[in-house]
Amino acid sequence: MLRITGGKVHDPANGIDGVVKDICIADGRVVSTVEGGRSIDATGLIVFPGGVDIHTHVAGAALNFARGLTPENMRRALPFIHSPERRAGLGGITPTTFATGYLYAGMGWTTVNEAAVPILSARHTHEELHDTPIIDKSCLVLMANNEIVLDLLEAGEAERAQQVVGWLIWAAKAYGVKAVNPGGVAAWKWGKDAKTMSGVVEGYKTLTPAKIVAGLAKIVDDLKLPHPLHLHCNNLGAPGNVTTTLETMRILDGHRAHLAHLQFHAYGGDDWNSMRSEAATIAEYFNAHKNLTTDAGAMLFGETVTITADGPWQHVLHQLTGRKWGNMDVENETGCGIVPHTYKPTKLVNAVQWAVGLELMLLIDDPWRVFLTTDHPNGACFWRYPEIIRLLMDVEFRKEQIKLLPEEARKRIVLADLDRQYTLSEIAIISSAGPARALGLSQKGHLGVGADADVTMYEASPDSGILFEYPRYVIKGGEVVVEEGEIRSVARGRQFIVRPEFDEAIEAYLRPLFQKVYTMSFDNYPVEVERIKGADVRSL
Ligand SMILES: [Zn+2]
Repeated sequence: MLRITGGKVHDPANGIDGVVKDICIADGRVVSTVEGGRSIDATGLIVFPGGVDIHTHVAGAALNFARGLTPENMRRALPFIHSPERRAGLGGITPTTFATGYLYAGMGWTTVNEAAVPILSARHTHEELHDTPIIDKSCLVLMANNEIVLDLLEAGEAERAQQVVGWLIWAAKAYGVKAVNPGGVAAWKWGKDAKTMSGVVEGYKTLTPAKIVAGLAKIVDDLKLPHPLHLHCNNLGAPGNVTTTLETMRILDGHRAHLAHLQFHAYGGDDWNSMRSEAATIAEYFNAHKNLTTDAGAMLFGETVTITADGPWQHVLHQLTGRKWGNMDVENETGCGIVPHTYKPTKLVNAVQWAVGLELMLLIDDPWRVFLTTDHPNGACFWRYPEIIRLLMDVEFRKEQIKLLPEEARKRIVLADLDRQYTLSEIAIISSAGPARALGLSQKGHLGVGADADVTMYEASPDSGILFEYPRYVIKGGEVVVEEGEIRSVARGRQFIVRPEFDEAIEAYLRPLFQKVYTMSFDNYPVEVERIKGADVRSL
């Protein structure tokens, strides 16, 4: 039992904006009152629901591939966080499992969504998610280049495609469906990409990215998944991709959808020399279409490594930068590319990207529909979120930073014209309440009675001037996991899994097909739910 007293509570989901009130906790949940137990004096602190990351890459084969390709990053020490368990972990750009749990909790985040899991490596991903302490997790299974699903969409077999998608989600023990560069990763097997929504996908007769997007969005809606189709649009990173993104949003009319890392999809211009921000165009359309949510995928200057299922894009990035390149094929399902990358403020393209992420967060008027992410580690590492929060909350600081950009870049962005400053409650929305709602996790992102007792307390005016860098206390499931900047206990997180409704008879269709085209036996393919410790299964 625990009572938090005297703190200023920001709980936007319950309409509470900086009110001093007690938060009472028993059996891992928020309750209306408690008698006895520990009491934490939160006077002078602000009290937030624990952070929720809707789009990050923290576990699975792609991360290990990235670590293997960038041994130079592995020398970096962890930021200063003590752990009572003293298990070895590496920090830096792609922190290993233990470090990931410590770093997220050490920043006040208590739930994360791993955004890209192939079914073929789902077993490994779940092992790593389980090994990531403290935080709760969910994961999304990659679907927009799965050849069994694509064949059914091309054949117009919508009903069977829905049964297969339902079966695949459950086979992967996933929480939702991710679509990456629909058709483009399948085309990459022939060295091609899918750059237009209406172009036929290489290797198919009539299938287009538009049909894949529309088909999957409908299936996800019909399966009633708690989180809508989570879409990484075609043409990521390319100048002029604003037209593809607008077209994709139009295709999604009538369906729920979440657009991942929108920063990478809001560029104008015809080539790299003329690239400019189209954040205003994207935000205008987005503001008027309430069926959509998005996350920023904001970029910060510095070293990182890019990791994505978007294999063809990674080849382009490698050609542009000359950096190391790794490509991986995941048979019949997806691909993966790894390229280390350095974002420099002196580079025109990077300067525009930096501005676009912030512009989108400032121009999208409803904080309940745009969430704080960096597409970790693609735009920047997740542990740099406090830097973005500062840029959103402090217009003077932001304008100082804009002055450091090349003059040519400043002509191609609108950031200097934006005076909006995020309030504390808006930060609580984009970092917790909003993503929890978009994920359909009703027990997360708020501090009302019945919510999971995930609570973060920050100094209202820290010495460094940077809010959210070091929370004073982090409570996870009612347990004090961070206190005075130290990890105090290593709680075990849960894994949220969805069991969609599907007809088991679909196995009779899948089994012979699978035995013909996969190198793995059909019986070894699905992850057994008993193997996932801490599984929290929601049957639909
Ligand atoms: Zn991503």
